[in-house]
Amino acid sequence: MRAPRLLHVLAAAVAVAVASVACTAHDSGKITIGVKFDQPGLSVKKPDGTLGGFDVDVARYVAGALGYPPQRIAWLEAPSGQREMLLRNGQVDYVVATYSITESRRQKVDFAGPYLLAGQSLLVRADNTDITGTASLQQHKKLCSVSGSTPAQLIKDRYPGVQLQRYDTYSACVEALRNNAIDAVTTDDVILAGYAAQSPGAFKLVGGRFSEEKYGIGVGKGNDVLRQRINDALEQMERDGSWRTAFVDNFGAAGFAVPDPPPIER
Ligand code: GLU
Repeated sequence: MRAPRLLHVLAAAVAVAVASVACTAHDSGKITIGVKFDQPGLSVKKPDGTLGGFDVDVARYVAGALGYPPQRIAWLEAPSGQREMLLRNGQVDYVVATYSITESRRQKVDFAGPYLLAGQSLLVRADNTDITGTASLQQHKKLCSVSGSTPAQLIKDRYPGVQLQRYDTYSACVEALRNNAIDAVTTDDVILAGYAAQSPGAFKLVGGRFSEEKYGIGVGKGNDVLRQRINDALEQMERDGSWRTAFVDNFGAAGFAVPDPPPIER
């Protein structure tokens, strides 16, 4: 009976050690990850309740490296405007949600990564011919983006004359575009390409890439142990080929060539 008891004690000690790295406000033995629910290719909640996409694959891989198998992951929706708040309140352990690393966000949260590079672009209806780039937006066009996002901020700063409407999610913007309520949606090209791929023939991307977005994994401010363990996991994901597999699985249909993963900024 001695050996099993020792094993039991060891297992408990390991569990405590793992829990101290993550699990901010949870005693459930689960890790809670904030993701988007409505961004095809990146992170989408399917009708059967399961999640899929590049961000989800990254989030799952990292959780596995931290000692949390899929059944011990709790997913929480993290819309653009709520990500810092969810981290600051300890409602999530980390956020993998097309979350650009920026100086102003770094005042409130910390980032592991980056694990993907993207850039802002425009989505219009496939039959649109008069919006070809940011210059055409000045002419009384209605543009949709999301509250608390870097693309909405860039439009506000650089194109103050544009009629910007801020919704809570990009999927709401895309439905408004489909229904002619707005003329264009702006956010990162990888997100827009996911919507275009989901509705073949309905939309197209225009205007090229006009910003650089480095996607990081958000953690609580000052949680350096977790941040570095996530960086280790991301490096491992790139080394063992899982990063490339996730890219091909999730973006292959949207026609993106597989890039080199961006270097981790320690
Ligand atoms: N990557 C940008 C951001 O973090 C746009 C995508 C998003 O809103 O999630 O704001």
